[in-house]
Amino acid sequence: AIGLLGWCRQGFEPELAAEYQSKAAELGVAGYAKAQRDSGYVEFLCEDAAALSRQLGTNSLIFARQSIAMLASLPNLPREDRITPILDVLRGMDLNGFGSVAVEYSDADSGREFAGLARSLGNALRAALRKHGFMSGKDRPHLPCLHLLLTGAESGILGVSDFSQRPAFPMGIPRLRMNAQAPSRSALKLEEALLTLLTEAEREKWLRDGMRACDLGAAPGGWTWVLMRHGLLVTAIDNGPLREQLLENGRVEHLRADGFRWSPKFPLEWMVCDMVEQPARVAQRMGEWFANDWCRRSIFNLKLPMKKRYAEVEHCLQRFTEAAGMPLDIRVKQLYHDREEITVYAGLISRKDR
Ligand code: SAM
Repeated sequence: AIGLLGWCRQGFEPELAAEYQSKAAELGVAGYAKAQRDSGYVEFLCEDAAALSRQLGTNSLIFARQSIAMLASLPNLPREDRITPILDVLRGMDLNGFGSVAVEYSDADSGREFAGLARSLGNALRAALRKHGFMSGKDRPHLPCLHLLLTGAESGILGVSDFSQRPAFPMGIPRLRMNAQAPSRSALKLEEALLTLLTEAEREKWLRDGMRACDLGAAPGGWTWVLMRHGLLVTAIDNGPLREQLLENGRVEHLRADGFRWSPKFPLEWMVCDMVEQPARVAQRMGEWFANDWCRRSIFNLKLPMKKRYAEVEHCLQRFTEAAGMPLDIRVKQLYHDREEITVYAGLISRKDR
């Protein structure tokens, strides 16, 4: 591999580039990022890329929806035959044994136009890879997946991913449908966070009927509604009004209070927070919740309206861990449904996992 290739939200290429640079440096790997503004993807060219991509998988990156090892740049994929040059590269690198193939595009104005081509080329490439012995006869997800990112009608980037590095959804885009009963579109953010940041086993263990949660900055009530649907009892904190329907079944209590000052009388399983406020102030308060033992786990959102967003994220996360003053299990992601913001999961580390 010659580098890493990451997909991100359009406009967040500088953040993903900075994150690659910073996290690779922490692991002792030097490299440089190549990113075009608004392209929806970033290339990070470096040495030891295969090893780095194993250490720096999609889950460990905030701004990458999907990150894979980059095999080769293909600047010339002629319309008449895009497949032969791909097979030639694979032969040249002596690569085979793929279990699946994904022809993809970037989720950007300049990338989505290739969605149709990606579908048809994907089918043709799959057949060709099988015919020439590069790929198993049936899809086998536990074997490496060959990726082709279409960067133009006649150009692309070839990459490969291992099962453990792949995001829960192709290209990191979950197809969630907005439930007509949800009080706000924000509900999708929390739903995606639960699906992306937690495993299925964790969701079963940590989202149980009768568990207690609070929602800071709850109005109009999308997040509260998601927690309630998982059977939790929710205290919703907001000076604004909550959708009436939430209060009907006795699982939700609405308190008009300041989310930065309110605290529970006994420890809660969950605290979630979507308050629109300076991210450093939110991060600080979230840390205090752990320091005071007010909750066991939390999902909170940090808004990033400023210019130097990656630096701000590093600063906020540091502030959060310092305020918490204890080791926590922390997972951070810019979710598909996050706009100028990121989502953090933090939880106590259970004795058995330590
Ligand atoms: N998560 C909500 C949902 O799913 O419907 C949307 C939350 S909205 C983005 C932000 C909310 O934070 C607003 O309703 C606002 O009133 C509330 N808020 C901002 N500052 C607050 C504070 N200091 N205390 C309580 N609520 C606050």
